[in-house]
Amino acid sequence: MDHSLSTSESKFIFITGGVSSSLGKGLSAASLGALLQCRGYSVRIRKLDPYLNIDPGTLSPYQHGEVFVTDDGTEADLDLGHYERFTGVNAKGSDYCTTGKIYSTVLSRERRGDYLGATVQVIPHITDQMKAFILNETDDVDFVICEIGGTVGDIEGLPYLEAIRQLKNDLGQERVMFIHLTLLPYVSTAGELKTKPTQHSVKELLRSGIQADLLLCRSDRPIPVDAKKKLAQFCNVPPQRVIAALDADNIYKVPLQYHAEGFDEQICKYFRIPTEKLDLSVWEDIVKKIDANKNSITIGIVGKYVQLPDAYKSIFQALQHSGFVNNLNIDVKLIDSEDEINCIQEIALCDGVIVAGGFGSRGIQGKIDAIQYLREQKIPTLGICLGMQLSIIEACRNLLGIKDASSTEFGPTTEPVVCLMTEWLKENSVETRTINEDLGGTMRLGAYPCSIKQGTLAEKMYGTTTISERHRHRYEINLKYKDKLKEQGLIFSGLSPDGQLPEILEYTDHPWFIAVQFHPELKSKPFDPHPLFVGLTKAAYEHKK
Ligand code: GLN
Repeated sequence: MDHSLSTSESKFIFITGGVSSSLGKGLSAASLGALLQCRGYSVRIRKLDPYLNIDPGTLSPYQHGEVFVTDDGTEADLDLGHYERFTGVNAKGSDYCTTGKIYSTVLSRERRGDYLGATVQVIPHITDQMKAFILNETDDVDFVICEIGGTVGDIEGLPYLEAIRQLKNDLGQERVMFIHLTLLPYVSTAGELKTKPTQHSVKELLRSGIQADLLLCRSDRPIPVDAKKKLAQFCNVPPQRVIAALDADNIYKVPLQYHAEGFDEQICKYFRIPTEKLDLSVWEDIVKKIDANKNSITIGIVGKYVQLPDAYKSIFQALQHSGFVNNLNIDVKLIDSEDEINCIQEIALCDGVIVAGGFGSRGIQGKIDAIQYLREQKIPTLGICLGMQLSIIEACRNLLGIKDASSTEFGPTTEPVVCLMTEWLKENSVETRTINEDLGGTMRLGAYPCSIKQGTLAEKMYGTTTISERHRHRYEINLKYKDKLKEQGLIFSGLSPDGQLPEILEYTDHPWFIAVQFHPELKSKPFDPHPLFVGLTKAAYEHKK
């Protein structure tokens, strides 16, 4: 980073979305972050979500997809996963906020009397809090990229737009840029890409006092020069800052595609910073791997949120990353654990299987049956979180004959081999929970160290005995049947450093069966695939052969 900007100069790029939701603001922000890194700059990427939940922790995965967890234990939108996967920069709690979190802070300050008798209002109190969030902990980076959730025109998003409008005045034009991501729909009867929805969206943004500085236009085909000119004229941006964001067949091709359209170059020019230094080799290498001829395998994901693949976003990504190093094309099959009859039949067609995490008692029996089949048929298996808890329940029921073995999550049980964790160690202090506590934010969350036993498959996979992985769960396996399980070939190959909490289990008489209490998928990157996914897909390919 030889020509990094000095601290007082950190620049802010805001990305808003128009015309339609799901245009990929998160991927655009992530790709921009990656491209600025290729130019030698440091980045932080943040997201401001307009909804009133404090965080997505209590939301069903069907609402916004997977909940992403950061090292510091923040439950966040899945876009933070994209940011991490594209930039390798670990997100923090300070990179994610919702309107709910902003209001909650302002209201507790009001109760404390911090506003000294003032009438507390959206402007300035809520908008000031939003600005404080955006500016917090940004001194050490060259660029702060902020994605504003939702679509321009939503009532909920207005305070954020007001806050970023003010920031351009507070910090100065030269430190703030507004990018607007829109859609150019192709109308087949006219044989044209239409610019009108974008024009309207830019006008809507102007109503909030924000003039877009660059338009990133999603389109399923190249944008003709005339359409670009029209957009430039009607939307009041220079023509070179109308950038085509064409559909990509793989998300990891997006950075190079946007680069080819001049995206990052135009941003550097806007900020009047050097454009000469550029090293795209990381992304060129990834694209080469994507396009290489590969062998194919099928990996099943057994879970209950099969209607919405976004519920397993990071797992899909981690599998794809493992394919890059193993030269494998991975067909992912979502298998419904609630459909107990078809579940086993579908598993039988897979080369390897992931038993995914989840909450509540729905679909549990399907997963337990699946685990029994995977264990007995020696199919490579990775159990994640609930997948590990159910692996123990399956082993206790079917190998030790403890028919009532269960988890207290599924109702009262006389054999709680998995039970509510009320006390555990975090960085040398004791964390406590009670049964009647709020559900939000009270799980065992974020990064915890784990010690791996030497000579185990887990050690072989990680190549080390000390690791750190991210957690998100309320229940824990107890070690009561540890010795009896060992006699059956099930060992705990990873434990919390104090030896109290089982973190990894494996079968010594199975080619590849590992189950983990944490979520390894959250840390996989295209340029640094996670060892457990690399191991699983490699074993699956061996199994297929
Ligand atoms: N429901 C389980 C628990 O709370 C597992 C959670 C998960 O799979 N993330 O412990």
